[in-house]
Amino acid sequence: MNKTKAITTYSLWSLFRNCRKACQWRYIQELVPLDEDPNLAFGTLIHKCLEIWHGTRDLAVVLDHIDRSYPKRTQEEEQQKDWHLARAMMKGYAGCYPTEDFRIVALEKTFEGPITNPATGKTSRSFVLAGRVDGIVRIDCEYFLLEHKTTSQLDGDYLERLWTDFQIVLYAYYLERTLGIRITGVLYNILVKTRLQQGHGETEAEFEARRVELIAKSRSGKSNAKRRLPETDQEFQARLAAKYAEPAMFHREMLYLSRDQLKALQSELWELAQAFLDARRRGVFYRNTAFCFHYHRPCAYFPLCRADGSTNIIENFYRQAPPHQELRGEGGLEDNGVI
Ligand code: SF4
Repeated sequence: MNKTKAITTYSLWSLFRNCRKACQWRYIQELVPLDEDPNLAFGTLIHKCLEIWHGTRDLAVVLDHIDRSYPKRTQEEEQQKDWHLARAMMKGYAGCYPTEDFRIVALEKTFEGPITNPATGKTSRSFVLAGRVDGIVRIDCEYFLLEHKTTSQLDGDYLERLWTDFQIVLYAYYLERTLGIRITGVLYNILVKTRLQQGHGETEAEFEARRVELIAKSRSGKSNAKRRLPETDQEFQARLAAKYAEPAMFHREMLYLSRDQLKALQSELWELAQAFLDARRRGVFYRNTAFCFHYHRPCAYFPLCRADGSTNIIENFYRQAPPHQELRGEGGLEDNGVI
């Protein structure tokens, strides 16, 4: 009998390895929190903007996409904040990279392939692995994966951690099989999120309190201080533009792929697939509470685990969503380190 194999992603396997319970909530129960993480939505938008930019090299099209993504920006502060940031970031990006040293071969490329036991060559009868890369580029005669990242902090630790991005090693292997090309490495395209905020100005009472404080410190017993007014959109945009003119806001890091890892990764994937089948058959997905605050914030399923899976919590704080959103370019929870 020809049984259809289930699609899986690296995100699923990574989550299963980190906390089986979280994997069950997301991939078996298909639950996601009602409140979307704002960082996740912003990262997804920037990925889309970069896809448009590298596909068209037309900044007006990118800015138009941003404008249409925030239709309520004049009424909602959060939308306005992200709108300012996205426009400044993409204008800065276009200014920073007016030309490129690479040629785009593909953008948002998806792939699918078997999960294989490298020790025996046997392929899984239950699962295939699917994924999506931001792009494939050609530099001279070599191919590289293009991987976009947004981060609030870019430092040596961040760049060091790129080495542990084993997902990309596996993706390179699958894309090589799909496309029949050899992938030399990964070009990480990193965009930094500034923490600049639009100035709200002072209330009358805040100004009065500051003025009294200045007078108390002044030898003359007087102060020329003026009330700080809210920063206009134009003033804030000018400040953001100056920030994004700084070279440190954009960084490219090239890593060459090490094939040494590949066999170990395939073997790990195979073992995870066997363990998942066993957990599903027995209906046992145990919790890894050491992972609950792994990203310095509660895991997306923390309220649910704390309430022991209460249906009341599910109905009020979660909704059903099909898995593997990242394959459709929607930016899944898993893809963005939310769980
Ligand atoms: S809250 Fe903790 S135990 Fe529950 S799914 Fe998340 S990481 Fe796992």
